[in-house]
Amino acid sequence: MNLLYKSTRNSDKTVTASQAILKGLADDGGLFVPVSVPKLDVTMDELKDMSYQETAYAVMKQFFTDFTEEELKHCINSAYDSKFDTEVIAPLVKVGDTYHLELFHGATIAFKDMALSILPHLMTTSAKKNQVKNEIVILTATSGDTGKAAMAGFADVEGTRIIVFYPKNGVSKVQELQMRTQKGANVDVVAIHGNFDNAQSGVKQMFEDQELAKELADKGYQFSSANSINIGRLVPQVAYYVYAYTKLLANGEIKDGEKINVVVPTGNFGNILAAYYAKNLGVPIAKLICASNDNKVLYDFFQTGTYDKNREFVLTTSPSMDILISSNLERLIYLICGEDSEKTKELMEELKTTGKYTITLEMKEKLADFAAGYSTEEETAESIHDTYQKTGYVMDTHTAVAAHVCGQYRAKSGDQTKCVIASTASPYKFVKSVMSAIDAENANADEFDLLPKLQEVSGVPMPQAIKDILDAKVLHDLECDADKMKDTVKGILGV
Ligand SMILES: *Cc1c(COP(=O)(O)O)cnc(C)c1O
Repeated sequence: MNLLYKSTRNSDKTVTASQAILKGLADDGGLFVPVSVPKLDVTMDELKDMSYQETAYAVMKQFFTDFTEEELKHCINSAYDSKFDTEVIAPLVKVGDTYHLELFHGATIAFKDMALSILPHLMTTSAKKNQVKNEIVILTATSGDTGKAAMAGFADVEGTRIIVFYPKNGVSKVQELQMRTQKGANVDVVAIHGNFDNAQSGVKQMFEDQELAKELADKGYQFSSANSINIGRLVPQVAYYVYAYTKLLANGEIKDGEKINVVVPTGNFGNILAAYYAKNLGVPIAKLICASNDNKVLYDFFQTGTYDKNREFVLTTSPSMDILISSNLERLIYLICGEDSEKTKELMEELKTTGKYTITLEMKEKLADFAAGYSTEEETAESIHDTYQKTGYVMDTHTAVAAHVCGQYRAKSGDQTKCVIASTASPYKFVKSVMSAIDAENANADEFDLLPKLQEVSGVPMPQAIKDILDAKVLHDLECDADKMKDTVKGILGV
């Protein structure tokens, strides 16, 4: 059966998976969603002895039905290889009474690698399938981690170029240096004078700009996206939730069929939506717990049914979650309003013009699978400190937000269901905040001096990704105002 995709803002027009991957965003500004969410055709018990790659294939073949077995396996094996520092790709580690699904063992030590190491392969395969002759220009807004992972994934991939925009003062030092030292003749990175939402809105506007699309086409270019709005990023993320469940089963931590909860540190709502898809695929997940930092727009949404981005944008120690417009929420909105594309469009228009919208009571009832919480800066630091004191395990600030929310949820609800925490970054990436949480004295130290110290306290060897930036040359120094992104892109492409 061929699974087709439609836009959340127009249910009538359908495209194939490869076309959806190529386009990134639908022409009407909507996000591509599968016409129906598929089910796995293997049981958890059958999956429990499979490798990560085999699990990924079992998941992705249900979504990307216009790829042949050979094509899909080629993409998977090219992505999940020795770029990861562990053969199991996504280790599940028991920390206290929770399980951390470590998603940061790829080339750029954040969970974005789980999808961005495969997206370039999916994209070039899709281009071949659809006889695309144009060069594909990947435009990406990043809150820090997507940018580097996308550049690393697309660097020197034939037939592609990539341009990344990040908020100039909104990323960690390690994140910024990782991006600015990226090699590759086809990569550019630009610091914008604004925040992540400005970057994301600017990119979205370029995607919707039909005139710009024409100008580009005349020069042999077409845009696509490496952001989590691309279904080619979302689907690979579903695989690790399946993998986590089957490993719990294989290790005898749960009984077959036993439900688990999943806690996800959330920004753009991509990672947690992948968990929701996994649940719909047939993974026994009870609650999806959405964890926010001080930018708690999602927490408020789940409490009240009103999404309201009209609030102060807070810079936190978990910068990859400093987001007020969670793009992927549109996919959930579409599902809970009964796949009503007119209603979805109306709400998204409202968000664009007034900065907020309210869902109906009927829609809110369909959010029963979700719980939400948030962690203040102090609580996040405490969470790192206390976990280290109790277990010796050092986690990054984003994961700490989730760990705090997990504890808070358990205490409040009394729900003792076993919890998997999506562990989204290596502590090395946010070394300053992590080491300051462990010992306040480190707050005055130089970020780079803290790297060997982190190795000492955590016992985890310094990852290659960190060693790489220590003596790499800075290759990129472009900057622009938030309202000049289009001119910057034109300049880079010579259009
Ligand atoms: C991107 C990111 C997140 C947020 O994930 P979303 O899919 O945008 O919700 C959380 N933690 C880290 C480290 C990230 O890089």
